[in-house]
Amino acid sequence: MTKYVYTFTEGDKDLKDLLGGKGANLAEMTNIGLPVPPGFTITTEACRHYLDHRTMPEGLDAEIEAHLVALEATLGRGLGQADDPLLVSVRSGAPFSMPGMMETVLNVGLNDDSVLGLATRGGDERFAWDSYRRLIQMFGRTVLDLDGALFEDVIDALKAEKGVTDDPDLDAADLRRLVARFKEIVAEQTGRPFPSDPREQMRQAIRAVFDSWNAPRAVLYRRRERIPADLGTAVTVCSMVFGNLGADSGTGVAFTRDPATGWPGVYGDYLQNAQGEDVVAGTRNTVPLAELATIDARSHAELMDIMDTLERHYRDLCDIEFTIERGRLWMLQTRVGKRTAAAAFRIAEQLVDQGMIGLDEAVQRVTGDQLAQLMFPRFDDRAVAGDDVHPLGHGMNASPGAAVGKAVFDSYTALKWSRSGERVILCRRETNPDDLEGMIAAEGILTSRGGKTSHAAVVARGMGKTCVCGAEELDIDTKNRRMSAPGGEVVEEGDVLSIDGTSGRVFLGEVPVVDSPVVRYFEGEIDPASDQADDLVRSVDRMMHYVDAARHLYVRANADTPEDAARARRMGAQGIGLCRTEHMFLGDRRRLVEHLILADTPEERRESLEALLPLQREDFDGILDAMDGLPVTVRLLDPPLHEFLPDITELSVRVAVAEARGESHENDLRVLQAVHRLHEQNPMLGLRGVRLGLVVPGLFTMQVRAIAEAAVDRIRAGGRPRPEIMIPLVGTVQELEIIREDALTVLRRVGEENGMELDLPVGTMIELPRAALTAGRIAENAAFFSFGTNDLTQTVWGFSRDDVEASFFSAYLEKGVFGVSPFESLDVDGVGRLIRIAVDEGRAARPDITLGVCGEHGGDPASVHFFHDVGLDYVSCSPFRIPVARLEAGRAAGRGPGHVH
Ligand code: ADP
Ligand code: MG
Ligand code: MG
Repeated sequence: MTKYVYTFTEGDKDLKDLLGGKGANLAEMTNIGLPVPPGFTITTEACRHYLDHRTMPEGLDAEIEAHLVALEATLGRGLGQADDPLLVSVRSGAPFSMPGMMETVLNVGLNDDSVLGLATRGGDERFAWDSYRRLIQMFGRTVLDLDGALFEDVIDALKAEKGVTDDPDLDAADLRRLVARFKEIVAEQTGRPFPSDPREQMRQAIRAVFDSWNAPRAVLYRRRERIPADLGTAVTVCSMVFGNLGADSGTGVAFTRDPATGWPGVYGDYLQNAQGEDVVAGTRNTVPLAELATIDARSHAELMDIMDTLERHYRDLCDIEFTIERGRLWMLQTRVGKRTAAAAFRIAEQLVDQGMIGLDEAVQRVTGDQLAQLMFPRFDDRAVAGDDVHPLGHGMNASPGAAVGKAVFDSYTALKWSRSGERVILCRRETNPDDLEGMIAAEGILTSRGGKTSHAAVVARGMGKTCVCGAEELDIDTKNRRMSAPGGEVVEEGDVLSIDGTSGRVFLGEVPVVDSPVVRYFEGEIDPASDQADDLVRSVDRMMHYVDAARHLYVRANADTPEDAARARRMGAQGIGLCRTEHMFLGDRRRLVEHLILADTPEERRESLEALLPLQREDFDGILDAMDGLPVTVRLLDPPLHEFLPDITELSVRVAVAEARGESHENDLRVLQAVHRLHEQNPMLGLRGVRLGLVVPGLFTMQVRAIAEAAVDRIRAGGRPRPEIMIPLVGTVQELEIIREDALTVLRRVGEENGMELDLPVGTMIELPRAALTAGRIAENAAFFSFGTNDLTQTVWGFSRDDVEASFFSAYLEKGVFGVSPFESLDVDGVGRLIRIAVDEGRAARPDITLGVCGEHGGDPASVHFFHDVGLDYVSCSPFRIPVARLEAGRAAGRGPGHVH
């Protein structure tokens, strides 16, 4: 028969899937001899059965009863026993932490009789009635699904009647009245009396915790966090200990190290004469844990000892909940604690130094997201701590970075001011698609409403722009173009603001911004061995050395200019995975492109191409020089041609005016006709990429020649250029075949002209579903594949990023359709599946094919793990994300296959 119930002495910390995080860690603490109030845990398996069949699995009731009887025997008291009651808490605990999503009921076992026994035994009548009213309140809310306000209102009314403000001001008689009234509320609302049978209370509470797994907010939370919906929650039944039995009792929470900085030293809060939930509720002021040493030296010393044990045992920072009942310490919870990015790196480093973990494990304790956080520019800490800085309030840290600018309250002004060279912060209650232009123009975005999936947050993250959202304490009045802060300050349009997207803080005035020391280290400006390097830089340096040796994936950069290429190289790039050529056709050269497009005769076309050739060659010279010795994948021209032509409206007006004045306008008219001809409804799906190469004769061959001639230049100069030629937007092998033939001919010819052999790889992007599905054929004609995951995501989902991200993505995230935008993190199930197919078929057709990815996903942590798992050779990302990709590639290699998070 399946075992559904485990006493604390039976399980251990590795049984999280079965016992939930809370139950597993309570068992672990029990088994290493720490003082845990005895209890037992009902498994997630029981919960799954209950949720599937709407009945408790057979034998569960009997098993629970047997464990309860054993617990009663251990403690020598019966559950709810009238003269000396055993009370228990019924606690939820999922395999993954789901903070605040599910409930816990304390003081189960109290009724009109046992409350008297508790009062006598505890020698404190007020305490007993307070415990009882808490039970009815929590039971009412959690088990009976009543509105918590029903109870809160009664408490508030009673306080008002007595003229007091705090709970502790209510005496035993008041609390007894509350209990009576609460029971009436339960009877009125549910049509049934509050259950007085302790075992019935426990049974109902267990069921309610099971049910809470499917409470709407829990379902939504899981969808967003991508926690599987079918795990279920465990239920832990734990004998009650009381921190509210007077001054020699209390409750607290603590960390074994500072979770903010990572520096050693215990850190926590303590509340005298209180129960656990009071600390969380924040209704009373806690004291720092250190003060416990003067309040109760013995318990304090024991607690320090226990925290030391826990840290050694878990080999990591732990956080704990504890309660002291009349001078006796009890541990109620522990887990490996959350921490800031800086703390994560420092703690991992310290644990290595202390010999507790190896570097292989240390790199698993930090993440690429944390590294990215350490790399954003930030406000100068000293300035923030100083007197010159004026904090206004804070909101949610929606998109990291530090931004300074003048406050504007509408998109139009943001655009206008930024065009005249001002830096602006766009302040809105919330944003919508109409604000897009202003958001693009602004340095940062501040909203007073909405969470991390609000429109402002989603769009800002997509643009990599600093954003603080949901700063509810700031009253943003867009009509009158002003904002007022809780401190009474009024910010008018044009006043300077500083917003910190990493911490969510908002300041009045300009706070100085400094480069992160971690970036200065990556840029080679800080030597990790010197005094200039702090412990954080040293920790990052050590981890980077480790991951660089461990990883299988190469990391390249997306870079289009010699400057970007040089920077990428400093950041550790091992080549360029995507060198775009489109910007090389703008500016002064636009005119030449215009000629090319409008050419009526082959001679005219040749002229334009000949004029473009030396310019292109120069572009490639610089980049190949900056990346000497490393591969540089150059993508031939990709965007729709009309992007290089003048604006259609402007031109139409010019032609119309000239016509009206009877002036000559032949050239404009010709251009206008071409613009009309080339205008597209859906440019993303129009004449671009390889299609351009096929219909504009000479364009791609000119580019190939420029690349080849640049390579010749570099070889003559003693360099080792390694350019690769990449054809975009191929859907079928025939397209590739034609372009590749042409390219090989040009390479041969340039080689002959210069007396050398030019053997440059020619490959293709895989960015259309059809290309992925026919990858075997395509591979026969491609030396390499580079997955263009941006376009592949657009074409697999059938949406255009520019259109959808700003219009409905926030709604999709809000509704949990996806947990994260598929442009931010690769859609493994859909897009990833196509990549797998293409990898398998590509390698089967051409075993030595090089496989890489050049979409933005190349710098996204979860996506990097996927690319490692499918066996790509490299990822390519923006220069700034290279350290993140290096770290995650090393972490992926150390984890073995199958780990995505
Ligand atoms: P959460 O997951 O929300 O932290 P818990 O199950 O840990 O919920 O319980 C809520 C509060 O009640 C915590 O402060 C916890 O320490 C306290 N608590 C839980 N069980 C007991 C118990 N048996 N005795 C005393 N306090 C308890
Ligand atoms: Mg807890
Ligand atoms: Mg593309």
